[in-house]
Amino acid sequence: SSQVLLAVRVAPFADGLALILVDDRTQARRVEAVRRDFVVNVSHELKTPVGGLALLAEAVLDAAEDPEAVRRFAGRMKTESERLTRLVAEIVDLSRLQANDLLADMVLVDVAACAAEAVEQTRVVAGERTVVAAPAGRPEELRIYGDRELVTTAIRNLVTNAIAYSEDSTRVGVVTRRVKDVVEVSVSDQGRGISPEDQERIFERFYRVDPARSRRTGGTGLGLSIVKHISAGHGGSVTVWSEEGQGSTFTLRLPAVDDPREPGSPAPHRQ
Ligand code: ADP
Repeated sequence: SSQVLLAVRVAPFADGLALILVDDRTQARRVEAVRRDFVVNVSHELKTPVGGLALLAEAVLDAAEDPEAVRRFAGRMKTESERLTRLVAEIVDLSRLQANDLLADMVLVDVAACAAEAVEQTRVVAGERTVVAAPAGRPEELRIYGDRELVTTAIRNLVTNAIAYSEDSTRVGVVTRRVKDVVEVSVSDQGRGISPEDQERIFERFYRVDPARSRRTGGTGLGLSIVKHISAGHGGSVTVWSEEGQGSTFTLRLPAVDDPREPGSPAPHRQ
């Protein structure tokens, strides 16, 4: 990084800088290790669907005489390639988020509207579950400075998980409320819940409690780490509360902004 180069250049002129140099190198090495990990993880994750597609293509060739089997294998190829497309899109999103690339477009965002939109976008996968978005507060209390699309993505990822990890005929609730100077969105399900050990790891890239189940539901293992990066990019946070067998509540917290036109409210952040 440029920081390391700078330290290298000035180090000969001052003893004290030797220490900074070591620090920077440790930091640079850590960044490098994270990057290398990511590349290793990504290639591993890509190998599975690509390998699956190759096997299915072979099966199609072998089954050429049996139109019913061809249809079946082709259908699975379609599902698998859709998953691959989603995975690639999420990898790109995540690396751009990590580079803080996506936060160029900060505007006044109505978080309750994002939540409603996110719920709307998950209708097709909700099945028999009742998914309800409820704003608890006046719209002007539920606003932040941010990127509307990213906030919607973060909430949608939480709702998609709530649906994927709970049974049909259960309820998913999305409540947007104002708590002091924070806008909170909590997404609650009545699903399988998450053990305390897993709660500590689920925000890591590609971590899944049950890889086979996540695969069946079309999961990529990146959803929560994308939520984490989006909330951090907005100066907020995401946390989980869960009881195994009872359900989970994920809470997204973002710094609130009161209407800049109203007297007495703080001035908006400058970009
Ligand atoms: P995935 O694509 O596998 O859902 P995520 O990063 O979104 O990846 O989530 C990581 C893991 O956390 C999931 O595989 C699942 O085991 C667990 N998880 C996430 N949300 C929930 C939830 N609402 N209830 C139970 N487990 C969950």
